Amino acid sequence: MFNIDKIREDFPILHQEINSHPLVYLDNAATSQKPRQVIDTINDYYMRYNANVHRGVHVLSELATEAYEKAREKVQSFINASSVKECIFTRGTTESINLVAQSFLAPRLKTGDKILITCLEHHSNIVPWQMICQKTGAQLKVIPINQNGDLILDNLDTFFTPDLKLVALNHISNAIGTINPVEKIIAAFKQYNPEIPILIDGAQAAPHAMIDVKALGCDFYAFSGHKMYGPTGIGVLWGKEHLLNAAEPYQGGGEMILKVSFEKSEYKPLPHKFEAGTPNIAGAIGLGAAIDYLNNLDREKALAHEHELLNYSRALIRDFPDITVIGKAESKAPILSFVHQTVHAHDIGTILNNTGIAVRSGHHCAMPLMDFLKLPGTIRASFAFYNTHQEVEKLIESLVQIYEVFKV
Ligand code: PMP
Repeated sequence: MFNIDKIREDFPILHQEINSHPLVYLDNAATSQKPRQVIDTINDYYMRYNANVHRGVHVLSELATEAYEKAREKVQSFINASSVKECIFTRGTTESINLVAQSFLAPRLKTGDKILITCLEHHSNIVPWQMICQKTGAQLKVIPINQNGDLILDNLDTFFTPDLKLVALNHISNAIGTINPVEKIIAAFKQYNPEIPILIDGAQAAPHAMIDVKALGCDFYAFSGHKMYGPTGIGVLWGKEHLLNAAEPYQGGGEMILKVSFEKSEYKPLPHKFEAGTPNIAGAIGLGAAIDYLNNLDREKALAHEHELLNYSRALIRDFPDITVIGKAESKAPILSFVHQTVHAHDIGTILNNTGIAVRSGHHCAMPLMDFLKLPGTIRASFAFYNTHQEVEKLIESLVQIYEVFKV
């Protein structure tokens, strides 16, 4: 049995009132809440063995280093990577993508080269590529979507050109919840040219899917700790070893060097060459604890429960005359985006907040997608495994009240 009451006990933050109403936290796509096990692990690090990693010979430094590197092993098995060398700790998805853009791709680009993304991308998977396009004269190309929010893949072969230098797309859209057929897309590009590097932005997939980078067949995979019940300020870039080895670090400093003289520096091998400076040690250890937490959960049941919440909310919202659901992709993550005919998304968000319901409203860092949809923004309720059917009902009850007030 998937015991939701017991699971909710692990999340202290959920048990409070906001504006005199029990908190209903439906902003999980922005950041998820953290179980006690993660909070305690971070606390324990600061209380018992806080020290810098990799440099000290004293006990605390050894303990911290061991826990930090153990967390990397947990990441490796969480995504089924071949080696810990391929798992680089970053600040999050954004930094992981910037790392690939600056270290790996920028030095290989020339005028006229193409980088392919999709219409569904978060700004984190658009802006870093634009920045290097500006510097090099390369161009950004975009796979279009249809009105349901599915990628249009019929003419994918029009993108099969010799000047295509990288494909970057999200696994799951944060704004409208589309689960992209990434395996299929990766296979298609690899069949055209096995050398084309493919990066998957897994920020929303890490909490809502089982990730196996080997089975996916991509070259880089980026995700953030804070969306998968871990701390903020920590994330991962996974990359194939030979590609990471072939890339030069874009940040230099302590921790990443073997030897420094005024003439030149020699870098450490992977993964350390991409981890300049004191890392987020507590964050990495906390992320390890989040992975342990997910592993101890019946993951299949947790994902099925989230999906049930999505279906339940979609069924309940379907008949609202003044609400339109945005994003009706064939395969959807537990993200419900919608707009109200007359009331602005931010106003809905504010009214819901008055009844203790936390949702997100706005463009969800996907302005080009909103432009395509001709919307200034949407209201987004995003579910986690600790949400309940009653919470979905509370959302709907509040929307009914809004309907009563604003109906024309
Ligand atoms: N990509 C997607 C799909 C996201 O949802 C997010 C976070 N909203 C990001 C990238 C950026 O993640 P972070 O802010 O943790 O770096």
